Amino acid sequence: MQEFRQETLPDENGFFGEYGGQVIPEFLVKIMNDIYQAYLQIRETAEFKQELADLYKYYVGRPSPIYHAKRLTAAYGGAQIYFKREDLNHTGAHKINHCLGEALLAKYMNKKKVIAETGAGQHGVALAAACALVGIECEIHMGEIDVVKEHPNVVKMKILGAKVVPVSRGTKTLKDAVDSAFEELLKNPEEFFYAIGSVVGPHPFPMMVRDFQSIVGSEAREQFQELTGKLPDYLIACVGGGSNAIGLFTAFLNDENVKMIGVEPAGKGLDTPDHAATMAKGTSGQIHGFKCYVLQDSAGEPLPVYSIASGLDYPGVGPQHCMLKDLQRVEYTTASDKECLDMFIQLSRLEGIIPALESAHAVAYAAELAATLPSDVNILINLSGRGDKDADFVADKLGL
Ligand SMILES: *Cc1c(COP(=O)(O)O)cnc(C)c1O
Repeated sequence: MQEFRQETLPDENGFFGEYGGQVIPEFLVKIMNDIYQAYLQIRETAEFKQELADLYKYYVGRPSPIYHAKRLTAAYGGAQIYFKREDLNHTGAHKINHCLGEALLAKYMNKKKVIAETGAGQHGVALAAACALVGIECEIHMGEIDVVKEHPNVVKMKILGAKVVPVSRGTKTLKDAVDSAFEELLKNPEEFFYAIGSVVGPHPFPMMVRDFQSIVGSEAREQFQELTGKLPDYLIACVGGGSNAIGLFTAFLNDENVKMIGVEPAGKGLDTPDHAATMAKGTSGQIHGFKCYVLQDSAGEPLPVYSIASGLDYPGVGPQHCMLKDLQRVEYTTASDKECLDMFIQLSRLEGIIPALESAHAVAYAAELAATLPSDVNILINLSGRGDKDADFVADKLGL
């Protein structure tokens, strides 16, 4: 299975098979290629490697543990369920892994300011924390509607010293925030750095964000063998843009016997417009500067998408995932809002772990699968984040 080896992907133009690349104007290609060249060079230096490794260990709290969810396992009566506990990271999710990498890279490139867009604010908060620590200015663009809806995250970004720019044009949500943030970048591309929040966007971002997240799988591979004496039979992770999933999968891509499953949000149902199941319902297209499966209309415009988990409602998906789907190396499936909510409560009450609504999608699918498998089969789920951010919403929804 040589073709899955990380160092062979993507090609020098940023393509994973037919997906990825740089679908952007010529002047932006130069900016992206400068970042790519700087990244290739800086990531090999002993200084950068050591600084990032120290931050992961002493700041994020890595390695995150592997946890055997015995009571959840017993409740489904089948395969053993384990979690990789990314919810225990400082700032509460896997996003800090790539935000630290990006902020540090910006510092090594002598950039003056890091710019990003955020939807629900999770990327914004993780990046604001990383920039505070690294000592670099941070500016987050956010649709006005999201600024109101995600007030706690807006406050956190401000406390962490980031400038939050409300975007009042268009739909006043994520898509317009992306445009606004890009315009800011173009004012001074030599001194500004655009930090993308998942394994999406033009090359080299899908590759860089994957590389920074792959610590999750490298740790898990070692830890799981130490704990059980073998590799897991299944890896399962939720997929929005795909960063936590590829982070877990990468170290196992050459292990032919390890099955991998990505879980997308079926929202209110795949037969309604209210989902974000890009792999199940999307077609080949382009979005935000790269080629991938997209939920799009007949004119190629991205469709409005929906999930109860705001971190999963993206109409595109990372290019490497698209290739892994076509190669049938990873299977992509879905879990609905209802399955997610049920598992949010069940996991909280069986294990004392309140999961992020995003992560609850992966756990919901995994538990159903576990019930169909014998007890000597092991499933490892990436518990991508904690659910503190979702607690008020769920309590409201369920009348708790
Ligand atoms: C943002 C987020 C996700 C979705 O992003 P990916 O890039 O698909 O990983 C999943 N889980 C949590 C907790 C998040 O904050």
